[in-house]
Amino acid sequence: MSGLSQKSVRTVTVIGGGVAGMSAACALAEAGLRVQLVEQRGYLGGRASSYLHPGVGEVIDNCQHVLFGCCTNLVGFYRRIGVADKIYWTSEMTMIEPGGRRSRLGPFQMGPLRLPAPLHSAPSFLCAKAFNFQDKLALGRAMRAMMQPGALNDSQESLGDWLRRHKQTEGALNRFWRLVIASALNAEIDEIAVPYAAKVIRELFLNSAEAGSMGMSRVPLSELYAGVTPYLEKRGGSVLLNAHVESAAWDEETGQWTIITRTGELTSDFVIVALPFEAMGKLLPHLPREEGAEKLARQIEKHEHWPICSVHLWFDREITELEHAVLLDREIHWMYNQSRLQTGRGGHYIELVVSATRAFAALKRDEAIAQALCELAEFFPRVKDAKLEKAALVKEVRATFGVPPGIDAARPTSVSPWPNLFLAGDWVQTGWPSTMESAARSGHLAAEAVCSTIGEPCTILDADLKPRGFMRFMNSGKMES
Ligand SMILES: Cc1cc2nc3c(=O)[nH]c(=O)nc-3n(C[C@H](O)[C@H](O)[C@H](O)COP(=O)(O)OP(=O)(O)OC[C@H]3O[C@@H](n4cnc5c(N)ncnc54)[C@H](O)[C@@H]3O)c2cc1C
Repeated sequence: MSGLSQKSVRTVTVIGGGVAGMSAACALAEAGLRVQLVEQRGYLGGRASSYLHPGVGEVIDNCQHVLFGCCTNLVGFYRRIGVADKIYWTSEMTMIEPGGRRSRLGPFQMGPLRLPAPLHSAPSFLCAKAFNFQDKLALGRAMRAMMQPGALNDSQESLGDWLRRHKQTEGALNRFWRLVIASALNAEIDEIAVPYAAKVIRELFLNSAEAGSMGMSRVPLSELYAGVTPYLEKRGGSVLLNAHVESAAWDEETGQWTIITRTGELTSDFVIVALPFEAMGKLLPHLPREEGAEKLARQIEKHEHWPICSVHLWFDREITELEHAVLLDREIHWMYNQSRLQTGRGGHYIELVVSATRAFAALKRDEAIAQALCELAEFFPRVKDAKLEKAALVKEVRATFGVPPGIDAARPTSVSPWPNLFLAGDWVQTGWPSTMESAARSGHLAAEAVCSTIGEPCTILDADLKPRGFMRFMNSGKMES
């Protein structure tokens, strides 16, 4: 993509310095616009950031953030700001049962020999001890039904109902759907729309080994974005931190927006509002009255938050050689061995993640840490001999928005009711659940909308990875519902 011609250099204010706002801002700066990125906090990253935790004196991520090979727009954003090499990729996933029995899932490879998608991980799945024969048959049947893109797009069923109709076994429900899929979508199975679950299944398990490979940052999340400010400044833009946006007004005569922040006023030709739905809802009454604003308000009201908790533990010794694992049949779901995953981390730092569990989120700090430690010892016996040096609990009550049946009608596109104002944020219409990829996509879509309005349309959205192997032959016709 080349820069826009000099005569059309315009200014744009991006409100919100999360992944959505940063992606939009950097893409537009590259396209030749003068961008000011405005963020209420003193640092960039939004929900996907890191900070110095005062209780433990360590920089920790808000929570472990995982991406996948299919997250092409997030990777595109990382490439644009030059940090794509800070992501560590792995295709292996270890599932552990209480007592320690392990099952390794991942693509089959023997020398140069690989299996074509969707069979690439079939051998490890068939050997997995975590699932019995009936579980594997049930899972195979369900995956086949979800294989075809578009097959379930119009379904208004919840994942829970669909799984019951497809006779999933207790093992498949508890160890796969409730754990892996429900935690990827961060909601209970009865609160997930089938098309979103089918999308996750295709992208992570069927389309290709590359699409399903898992990425984790080697550095604390906020370090990833250190290049955003210089990137924008080099292209004539700026970043304004500690600037809560309170209102915005449109001047028909000048064709400009005035944005009022707690620290002063800004003007620009365009605005991208890249906020989570509840912050957008708070800003809405402070935008000009416009037909269509009520509809947006009603859409926002339909959204609901889901929590994610993370427990951060520092031991006096290593409790496992694994970098990460899925922990079965207990309240804690994921283990990340941060001392191995992040470069330059000293000590023995383990992060545990509990998704979509309101009961765990309601626990007090000491209760949550005690429960996590007790459960961790069931998977890694070395915990019993190790000394816990320090611990922190991070509860994110508003971590993600849910994707229940019918939610798509409540996800607006980047086009807003106001002139020259566009919407971004993970919750806008991207087809993706509440993820960094959805945020990056929304930012790129809003940036494309700005360029089109200027009359210089360009492609900013990064293309999806193409399905491989037999998955190439899947078309968008209906199969089974
Ligand atoms: C605990 C947790 C775990 C997660 N795990 C994963 C994961 O593993 N993988 C994954 O892909 N996603 C994960 N997510 C989801 C992911 O973090 C979000 O989908 C994504 O970061 C959303 O980005 P965003 O830019 O849309 O919104 P945000 O990150 O919320 O950014 C919005 C920004 O706007 C700012 N803001 C708000 N109001 C104003 C205002 N009035 N004026 C100025 N600025 C304002 C906020 O401070 C914030 O920086 C997780 C989220 C959480 C919380």
